[in-house]
Amino acid sequence: MEILRKSHREAQAAVLHDYPSVCAGFSWETARGWLDGLPGGGLNIAHEAVDRHAAGAAGERIAIRWLGKSGTRREIRYRELAELSSRFANVLETLGVARGAGVYLLAGRIPELYLAVLGALKQGAVVTPLFSAFGPDPIATRMTLGEGRVLVTTTSLYRRKVAPIRDRLPSLEHVLVIRDDDVEVLPEGTRELGPLLEAASPDYVIPATAPETPALLHFTSGTTGTPKGALHVHQAVVAHHSTARFALDLRAGDIFWCTADPGWVTGTSYGIIAPLSLGATLVIDEAEFEAERWYRILDEEAVSVWYTAPTAVRMMMKGGSERARTRAYPSLRFIASVGEPLNPQAVHWGVEAFGLPIHDNWWQTETGGIMIANFASMDIRPGAMGKPLPGIEAAVLRRLPDGGVERVAHHDEEGELALRVGWPSMFRTYLHEEERYRRCFVGDWYLTGDLARRDPEGYFWFVGRADDMIKSAGHLIGPFEVESALMEHPAVAEVGVIGKPDPVIGEIVKAFVSLKPGHAPDEALRRELLGFARQRLGPAVAPKEIEIQTSLPRTRSGKIMRRLLKARELGLPEGDTSTLETSR
Ligand code: AMP
Repeated sequence: MEILRKSHREAQAAVLHDYPSVCAGFSWETARGWLDGLPGGGLNIAHEAVDRHAAGAAGERIAIRWLGKSGTRREIRYRELAELSSRFANVLETLGVARGAGVYLLAGRIPELYLAVLGALKQGAVVTPLFSAFGPDPIATRMTLGEGRVLVTTTSLYRRKVAPIRDRLPSLEHVLVIRDDDVEVLPEGTRELGPLLEAASPDYVIPATAPETPALLHFTSGTTGTPKGALHVHQAVVAHHSTARFALDLRAGDIFWCTADPGWVTGTSYGIIAPLSLGATLVIDEAEFEAERWYRILDEEAVSVWYTAPTAVRMMMKGGSERARTRAYPSLRFIASVGEPLNPQAVHWGVEAFGLPIHDNWWQTETGGIMIANFASMDIRPGAMGKPLPGIEAAVLRRLPDGGVERVAHHDEEGELALRVGWPSMFRTYLHEEERYRRCFVGDWYLTGDLARRDPEGYFWFVGRADDMIKSAGHLIGPFEVESALMEHPAVAEVGVIGKPDPVIGEIVKAFVSLKPGHAPDEALRRELLGFARQRLGPAVAPKEIEIQTSLPRTRSGKIMRRLLKARELGLPEGDTSTLETSR
């Protein structure tokens, strides 16, 4: 097997060079000691991320270096970020928003998003960032499930995506907008955030926050039913902090660029909380991916640690490593990737392009933080996700007929990836769906829904998902959500949605539909359906391909057989796929 060896010197200089002994001596209590805490045993994410630095010598350090789409730059120091987020917390207090209320953010990567997330966490709200490329349907579903009381968004996003569904959001009381278009008059039912922030006090005393206080609600998709709201608590910050230290080799003073959008869990846990808790400087780029721009940022912003995703790496690879090599990246020390399988070629391409391999790591919305990683000190087996972090016990299990589980008998045998419960950033429930939450656990194992194997040296390898979830450009998409939107079209009788493999973005969303009598399966209708889905779901979730069929295969109980559609799409033997659907 191929191994990319780290030199002794490299390994010794990097974090976790003494992995076995750190694991043996590690406890979450110790990791908690790396944070400040609040008087009386409290723990608040925003205090650990911002206020504790602001008050000390790091107050003048740059917390956020924001690069606007059009070339503007803004630097926010820790002290200023503490004040701005306190202003936002005070705005919530002035509006009479109760602790524990849902505060939603729907915006591109603009400074207001970051200060609002941190301010809401200070105040005790439960924060949900929504991906700004969602269409009105995914926004409505998520805001209804989480009973969002406050929404922070921009005037243009509000007009396009929220105004049309406002009557479906009865719990929404306050919409605070940032002007991002030339409108003179604000949309009806909104207030402008800027003047409210200006009028608010920059001082805010964070209330005593019990470590188990809910903090973040991140939505993730299920195979069936609506998206699931994974609820995380304030003490998740203990894991954010320690996992960034271990898996990303992140240190105070690093210039850190996490390319994930805060609308997804990576962009919040590692795009905001973890690096700030360590006293790093965040680089935030408002613009969308563009290879040349990314090379420039890595070089000119002197990024030292870069956390990105396989889709982005593959998009850069398309341009060849010569383009990358026109620059030097003198500050770059560590590159990591997450969200989808990182193919071995991508690991090597890192060496060709930047002189550094790309380190894969694994986690998911429910785990709140990185669980398995290729550490900076470790020899890399390209294609492997790495080893469990200190404090994390991972195993490959198989389910038993009696409902129990056991470890697979041999190395390299496939099974379901499971984690022993008890780490601080583990989700505490699926909001309003206790039963669905309980079904994720057998004894004290949390079953992740991923299939994996473990090699004799203890590296974990990703095999696939145990369910029908789709990973497209690193975003987890539930087929049910896409099917439900298409079913709303008057011509559609049946829908089945699958992930179709794609060499760059992993999978594309593909829908198969059959039509109601009286509708012709022509190109005009196919295009209409594509547009219809895009309008409702937004470009991040909508199918890129739609195929019209006379009828779709169903199980005896009437469920559309997505697995069979997928097997046919891939030209694979159809086999017995009727029992493969799970309900996670
Ligand atoms: P999400 O909850 O949206 O972050 O998606 C989590 C899922 O993404 C995991 O359950 C995996 O299926 C997939 N995933 C995350 N990281 C990796 C990785 N390093 N390799 C393969 N799949 C991954």
